[in-house]
Amino acid sequence: MITIKHEGCILCVGCSAVCPVNAIELKGTRMEHYAEKCIDCALCVKACPANVIKMVKKDGV
Ligand code: SF4
Ligand code: SF4
Repeated sequence: MITIKHEGCILCVGCSAVCPVNAIELKGTRMEHYAEKCIDCALCVKACPANVIKMVKKDGV
């Protein structure tokens, strides 16, 4: 799954635009990630200009 460091996010919605399964969307003033939809493709990680999205293992290890 991915994590978003919201403090550094510039709300460009680039991650939302590239996500093939709509697992990220702008909700109010922050990007909301829906882990249950995410297919771990990492497209959002590559697309983020602020480099605030990281891929992490599901168990957190
Ligand atoms: S890793 Fe892929 S499926 Fe998951 S939120 Fe990012 S773009 Fe969407
Ligand atoms: S691509 Fe990065 S900076 Fe842009 S909205 Fe997504 S998390 Fe925020």
